[in-house]
Amino acid sequence: MKTYIGNNCVVDLLPFEKTCKTLVEEKIALHEREGKEEAFLVGDLGDIISKYKRWVKKLPRVEPFYAVKCNDDHAVLKVLSDLGASFDCASKAEIEKVLKLGVQPTRIIYANPCKQTSYIRYAAKHHVSLMTFDNEGELHKVKENYPDAKLVLRILPPNNFKVQCELGMKFGCQPSKARLLLEAARNLGVDVVGVSFHVGSGCREARAFAVAIQQARQVFDIGLELGFNMNLLDIGGGFPGQRSAPISFDEIVEVLNEALELHFPSDEGVRIIAEPGRYMVASAFTLGANVIAKRVVARDKHGEKGEPIVLSSASEEPAMMYYINDGVYGSFNCLLYDHAHVEVSLPGEPEMDITYECSLWGPTCDGLDCILSKTHLPELKIGDWLYFLDMGAYTMAAASTFNGMPPPIRYYYCLADVWYEVYPKQQRKEKAWIKQMPKHLKSGHTLHEAAATHDLENLLDTTPAI
Ligand code: PLP
Repeated sequence: MKTYIGNNCVVDLLPFEKTCKTLVEEKIALHEREGKEEAFLVGDLGDIISKYKRWVKKLPRVEPFYAVKCNDDHAVLKVLSDLGASFDCASKAEIEKVLKLGVQPTRIIYANPCKQTSYIRYAAKHHVSLMTFDNEGELHKVKENYPDAKLVLRILPPNNFKVQCELGMKFGCQPSKARLLLEAARNLGVDVVGVSFHVGSGCREARAFAVAIQQARQVFDIGLELGFNMNLLDIGGGFPGQRSAPISFDEIVEVLNEALELHFPSDEGVRIIAEPGRYMVASAFTLGANVIAKRVVARDKHGEKGEPIVLSSASEEPAMMYYINDGVYGSFNCLLYDHAHVEVSLPGEPEMDITYECSLWGPTCDGLDCILSKTHLPELKIGDWLYFLDMGAYTMAAASTFNGMPPPIRYYYCLADVWYEVYPKQQRKEKAWIKQMPKHLKSGHTLHEAAATHDLENLLDTTPAI
């Protein structure tokens, strides 16, 4: 059964739960049968739904404003907006995209402390009033272009905790300078309503949140002292999202809830928001890619310029160079921009007794386009498939089509029961379809079986979910 959620996104609704491994392997088998070699992404929207629900359950005080920059895929944004999430946008285009989904402007924070002036005017025109700042110049721009904006001061959190991507070198005012900046805001008559921070993307030490919250409290109190109606704390992003994350979401939750209760007790009524990106989407997408070329080279032997030497005698131990049809200029830009590490998997139950040292390369003509410089795999042949889990965060959002390499095709799935919890109206619509079916179809068949066996899928496809 399929459902359509706009922007050419079709979601396959599954009667039974399937793992990402099964989903990607089934798609690989289909591509093989159909002779397709294009790389593809499999998106499990149910994973995003369960992440969102887990967030709401574990952090009931913290409203998630999903960071659009992390993955601005239409299906991701649509599902999150229908779940009730709010959004962190960093540009006019991101705001536009979210507003187009019907999201109210009050559910957006323009969380870029250094904004283009025309974008501030765009935010003003569309009543996206909540926005961050960390410098005086921004205050003047806001005063001139959106005097009614509600500003959130972004402070620099402590930088002595381990993170995957530091952000402090670019944004955030030193807490010791916050008073000056808040005084400047007061003198200009610009309204400051809260404090924000970002501990760094892919936070690896939960305590980073506790220390940042404590600092935010001090700055918050300065704001109150200066007469601002401080009512918002934005704890940013940094929450882990991939299966192999060095720290669990629960570890952060425990420290976070405790620090919030200590420094911003519930009875004070301060609104707490966060800007999770990778947490929501990292594990939802799996990439399938095809081996498009292969070179056999001599292991550990390099020419004068470090280039691998093509194997010349059978006695030399071979190493392989595999070229696949997605790379650093595509989904694997995460290796450069996000300091990510990826793990390659082979479909099925591959025989791992005999493996060879190998490297994996993307499809472009650039030497930079290296995905894995050294790993071990059984010998592959051209046309074989590989897959990579946890490819949802900071991958497709920054991918280019450099060298004319197309982006991977996207396929979306969701367990039907999970989907219907979000879209109960759609289930009612489908029940109406069943009623219209001939009697013999109804007896002993689920809707999924009936639709599949009687070619009704096309009919159902055309029924918009929402
Ligand atoms: N908010 C801001 C301002 C960011 O710059 C980022 C990421 O760079 C995020 C939120 C999302 O962070 P994460 O993906 O670590 O949750």
